[in-house]
Amino acid sequence: LLWSRAYTTDHTTTEDQEVVTGSEEVHEFKTETKRLLDIVANSLYSEKEIFVRELISNAADALEKLRQTQSVESDVDSGKPLEIRITLDREKNQFIIQDFGIGMNLEELNANLGTIASSGSKKFLEKMDKEGGAGSKKENIIGQFGVGFYSTFMVGNKIKVYTKSAFPGSKGYCWTTDGQGSYTVAEAENVAVGTKIVIELRDDAKSYSSELEIDSIIKKYSNFVGYPIFLNGKEV
Ligand code: ADP
Ligand code: MG
Repeated sequence: LLWSRAYTTDHTTTEDQEVVTGSEEVHEFKTETKRLLDIVANSLYSEKEIFVRELISNAADALEKLRQTQSVESDVDSGKPLEIRITLDREKNQFIIQDFGIGMNLEELNANLGTIASSGSKKFLEKMDKEGGAGSKKENIIGQFGVGFYSTFMVGNKIKVYTKSAFPGSKGYCWTTDGQGSYTVAEAENVAVGTKIVIELRDDAKSYSSELEIDSIIKKYSNFVGYPIFLNGKEV
């Protein structure tokens, strides 16, 4: 079945035209997650561009997990190249990043994006509690610990995550939030194995749909990522 392994060659994010087929379940974010989102969304932190680094690092982790899993379980596969694709849509004001990595099943999706999973985010909140972070202190703490996936809320007002686990028989899901306390999850079709994140950029973050801008941010922070990064189809 050689044909089924044929890689797409244009290196832009797949236009799978994902469709939500299941009913949307609404979930409340955990209290600590709400707090973190609120802090991040209202932060005056000047280096908002680090969201690019955080998303690339998550994508690279997912590709690495797929590669390692594949070496022991050969039926775990995305059928796609181990690469990271970023596509910008100036008209729609979107930043889209896709990897064909390990993806997430429903349980992982709820656990990883609905609660504060990362140790960086935990430490961040602890530090805020201890130091009563206000104003510039708060901004320093963001810089110091990083907020992983949640850094997307510095630039986006709506985030959609399409994901499908690389384990055989997995279903695709669409996770979406406007960062206002809850998120929805629904089954979706035409989701590629791996993860695709679509950020609707805020008015004050429109520059992150500029190719020139993102190209320089990638070169600044993500020079040593172990997988190729394509920006609008061209390798960075
Ligand atoms: P960290 O990377 O430090 O664990 P993040 O907030 O960046 O924290 O991400 C939280 C979790 O969400 C990750 O640990 C991972 O389980 C999951 N995740 C995020 N992005 C992806 C992705 N592209 N593919 C698969 N899982 C992901
Ligand atoms: Mg991360």
